[in-house]
Amino acid sequence: LIGNGPAWMRERLETEFTVHPLPPEAERAAFLADKGAAITACCTFSGIATEVMDALPNLKIISSYGVGYDSIDADHAAKRGVIVTHTPNVLNDEVADTAILLWLATSRKLVAYDRYVREGRWLKEGAAPLTTSPEGRTVGILGLGRIGQAIADRLGVFGATVVYHSRTEKDVPYTFYPDLVEMAKACDVLICITPGGAGTKHIVNAEVIDALGPQGILVNVARGSVVDETALVKALQEGRLGGAGLDVFEFEPKVPEALFAMENVTLQPHVGSATHETRRAMGELVCDNLSQYLKDGRVLTPVPECAAIAKV
Ligand code: NDP
Repeated sequence: LIGNGPAWMRERLETEFTVHPLPPEAERAAFLADKGAAITACCTFSGIATEVMDALPNLKIISSYGVGYDSIDADHAAKRGVIVTHTPNVLNDEVADTAILLWLATSRKLVAYDRYVREGRWLKEGAAPLTTSPEGRTVGILGLGRIGQAIADRLGVFGATVVYHSRTEKDVPYTFYPDLVEMAKACDVLICITPGGAGTKHIVNAEVIDALGPQGILVNVARGSVVDETALVKALQEGRLGGAGLDVFEFEPKVPEALFAMENVTLQPHVGSATHETRRAMGELVCDNLSQYLKDGRVLTPVPECAAIAKV
């Protein structure tokens, strides 16, 4: 067991497995030398370092909590014959709602105006300045996968024109942009919802941010690594980007302090899927993958890299 999960999950796992929590760094080598060979399955809330994976010679399955698995070398696991599973789909609606919340809150200054009321500024300064309507905008989705599609499904009620950029074109009624900069130029709002990792590192760079422009809003519910945070902060400071709604950051839980005073920025502590209901569904799926594997060697939701070695 790697990382901290809810008590009910540990209780459920203990009914079927002998559970060994991975101890802190200082005690890790001794633990792995003692127990490493006995461990066949891993449940993780925070990925797994490749050295730890390789210190478990009889490991067969890694069941990871979350749909993103950029903190697990899944290619390496597949080569070793270790199946990695994750928790797709059960969180689509929650994360899509978070993206919409961040966009609306940023464009209507929800958090800044909440502060305006609490600080007594409404009384002292009168009506707050006007904001920009989210209605009828062109919204670009970077990564039209499971969650990206759930975001697109929500955009109709705002009269939005949906466009997207992914690695491949999809059979959908939205315009595909093979070039992200070109899409950003066409957009009022850019919502990032790709996986993290090397393939997407800083794909939202200074050029993309400038293409989005001084009226544009960037929403990031993907991974902090997807956006060049230094370029983002600079663009906001210089008024070259209209606003940002951010759930994820490059060096979590560190968030650039320059953002704290900005009224056109909405910040969340990586809580895209963090409701009781959705986290419960994710936890059940993590346990279900392990239980199924124990029962008959099949799994429910392997990551694509392990599709060839997993029985479903
Ligand atoms: P999917 O795999 O269904 O979708 C990912 C999309 O990203 C696909 O459309 C894919 O394109 C696209 N993509 C991948 N690499 C690139 C690239 N280099 N350039 C452009 N597009 C790319 O994943 P999900 O929708 O289920 O999840 C997406 C991500 O959301 C997760 O990996 C995770 O990082 C993040 N997430 C964040 C949460 C939060 O709390 N903020 C919660 C849950 C997820 P193609 O189809 O063409 O391959």
